[in-house]
Amino acid sequence: MTPAPAEFKPAPGCGRFAPSPTGPLHFGSLVAAFGSFLRARSQGGLWRMRIEDIDTPRTVPGAAELQLGALRAFGLEWDGEVMWQSRRIPAYRTALEALRERGAVFPCRCSRGELGGTPHRGCITSRNEGPAAWRLRVPDREIAFTDAIRGPQRQNLAREVGDVVLWRGDGLVAYQLAVVVDDAAQGVTEVVRGADLIDSTARQIFLQQTLGLPTPAYAHLPLALDAEGRKLGKSQQALALDPSDPIPALRAAWAFLGQPPATLANVASLPRLLDAAIAAFDPGRVPSHDLRAPRTGT
Ligand code: GLU
Repeated sequence: MTPAPAEFKPAPGCGRFAPSPTGPLHFGSLVAAFGSFLRARSQGGLWRMRIEDIDTPRTVPGAAELQLGALRAFGLEWDGEVMWQSRRIPAYRTALEALRERGAVFPCRCSRGELGGTPHRGCITSRNEGPAAWRLRVPDREIAFTDAIRGPQRQNLAREVGDVVLWRGDGLVAYQLAVVVDDAAQGVTEVVRGADLIDSTARQIFLQQTLGLPTPAYAHLPLALDAEGRKLGKSQQALALDPSDPIPALRAAWAFLGQPPATLANVASLPRLLDAAIAAFDPGRVPSHDLRAPRTGT
């Protein structure tokens, strides 16, 4: 068989890390950063950085700079410029406008109390004054995808989620719209992130389809849990990692990702440790369930 001409070689992939600047880098965020970095780099791909600083009430001043400084100290260097979501509001408005023109979204004044925890399927409030959110109308059919770590997934958005808020009543763009617009803008071909977001994936895929954007591949990493079984980061145990001593935390994150500790046991310099990890990373070993965080870095 004649080999395909060089220009038909598949382009190397592109991954990303997209932290919310709500605190310093902790073991759980290192696992997400290191896992997505290893997946991209071991395939010769790009690794992009995005600061998700649109939820202004939750954003901690200075946290993004601390996180970026810690990532650099851990040797996790990204490609190109950092994308700051707070500077991309016009791009999100354009996407919302396109959805509005297509009749895919509608203004909504239903409150959480009125919905009583049930999925939004058509408005129930009679109020027609005051600030409105914009919701995406979702279909009553299953959206299916295969997660590279957790296997086949499916979700019926109408029954399980309800119409998705894309622009909040308080005037802030919602995570679901920003993430979809930005993954496309950064050319992301595989989203590797914590398993707490697997439940958001079907709505992101449907939104990509509605906006005519490509759907990347997805891989959801195990969450690091504290002693009470809660996601690390939401608890007191999520102490900051020490950027002046990256090797023990990287070894712990490597083992947490199911990779053989022996690979990094005798590598003493940070560049050699990262090279060894990139060369040996095996996504097939990554556990498909959440795990208690080790003592290091917690
Ligand atoms: N900003 C989100 C977080 O820190 C991650 C979003 C994503 O990876 O899609 O939890």
